[in-house]
Amino acid sequence: MTDVAFDVVVVGAGRAGVAAAYRLAAEGIDVALVERAKQPGMKNVTGGVLYGSILADLVPEFPDGAPLERHVVEHNIKLLHGDAEVSIGYRDLELRDEPNYTLMLGKFDRWFVERAVEQGVAFLSETSVRDVTQEPDGVVVHTDRQNGDIECQAVVGADGVNTTVGRKTGIQRTMRNEDMALSVKKVIDVGRNEINQRFNLNSDEGAAYIYTGFPEGAPTIGYFLYTFDEYISVGAVGGLETLSWLGDEGYDESGTPLYSLLERFMELDTVRPYVQGDDIEEYQGILVPEHSYDTLPDRQDRRVALVGDAAGLVLNKGYTFRGLDYGIKSGLVAAEAAIACTDDGNWDKFGQRYDSELEDSYVLRDMKQHRHLPQFLKNERMYGAYPGIATETLRSMYSADTDAAGLTWRQAYRAFRRSDAGVIDLLKDGFRGLRSL
Ligand SMILES: Cc1cc2nc3c(=O)[nH]c(=O)nc-3n(C[C@H](O)[C@H](O)[C@H](O)COP(=O)(O)OP(=O)(O)OC[C@H]3O[C@@H](n4cnc5c(N)ncnc54)[C@H](O)[C@@H]3O)c2cc1C
Repeated sequence: MTDVAFDVVVVGAGRAGVAAAYRLAAEGIDVALVERAKQPGMKNVTGGVLYGSILADLVPEFPDGAPLERHVVEHNIKLLHGDAEVSIGYRDLELRDEPNYTLMLGKFDRWFVERAVEQGVAFLSETSVRDVTQEPDGVVVHTDRQNGDIECQAVVGADGVNTTVGRKTGIQRTMRNEDMALSVKKVIDVGRNEINQRFNLNSDEGAAYIYTGFPEGAPTIGYFLYTFDEYISVGAVGGLETLSWLGDEGYDESGTPLYSLLERFMELDTVRPYVQGDDIEEYQGILVPEHSYDTLPDRQDRRVALVGDAAGLVLNKGYTFRGLDYGIKSGLVAAEAAIACTDDGNWDKFGQRYDSELEDSYVLRDMKQHRHLPQFLKNERMYGAYPGIATETLRSMYSADTDAAGLTWRQAYRAFRRSDAGVIDLLKDGFRGLRSL
């Protein structure tokens, strides 16, 4: 295959794929970016906050020239328990020095692809990749276009959680329920001023909210709420294992799909004031990889490398999601591996080079450091007993009606004794929490 059309074909124009293509084109390498959607971002879903320093290092027009929503200066974690809510809020104007923004992928991905095309990327939209075959001296990408086979030296699979590249090349075989979550999300048109009032924000400031504890005791079910310029994004994420358990046993004796949990969450007295509004701009659902470092799937085979969600590179830290920047970083690592192959002509080493460089990157270091976190977040006590203890303790501190006699630690101890958690559980969970976070 001496006469390849491109050195590298990148499949999927999410941020992971565009970052890879951008970096390769900037280095003068022939690269095609293949995307099934008519417009970049049309088929993509996120929450979400982009932790953007990785992009600021790559694209000179980021952040100032990019279509971003709000600069995130506030994070909130909310534990729900019955009618109560215990919050930990963090607002810090020094966060303005970091390029962390909420974004809408419809606008952002289009902008990012335009920047990549300026670097020399050949962008093929409305082109679905159906198969990828590795030949002894190259790779063929089979698309749904007439005469649509593209020959190249190497392929970057950036085609998201249901990766065709990963499945067709045999790099990935099965998805396990325990490594996957489902997410549904609504974007509601609320208006800029109303958002600023509801969330107590100034001008372009943004806030992020993460909720757990509803339904009480159901592990790995969480909710998020992000402020965009004119819209709010509110959604639910549920581990597939828990969802099938809720479905089998029937929460409220009927089985509860995630979209219905989201509706009920939005009706909670503590949540409704933030999310009210009938003007639904988008409604989306998608699978989210929730691997720990130890269960990450294979991500390379000789001349093919998987990046971003296709490689399962997402970490739900409980208090925030990391996936957007992990995808960008892994795309850049794949690009560096391809640049090294162009230099020495040894394309058969592409996959291995990518793999070992990714292992040294902050993405896998981060996932390795938090390797116990996914298991820790499956603990039912985090969603029932502990929010309950926190609520009861605070009620004893602030209510005139409760038995408020005694020191606060005594109240907390009484609340603990009334809960389902034992002392051994508390010690174990405390240790696991420290080790995971
Ligand atoms: C509800 C939700 C909230 C989240 N919140 C956050 C957050 O706050 N912060 C954060 O950092 N991360 C968050 N994440 C994770 C983050 O959104 C993902 O990790 C990230 O979007 C993955 O990017 P990607 O480029 O790998 O894949 P994608 O964005 O999924 O892009 C894949 C692209 O490949 C294309 N494609 C697929 N198949 C083919 C094919 N056969 N041929 C051609 N093209 C194809 C698709 O159309 C798409 O454009 C969230 C995820 C969800 C679902």
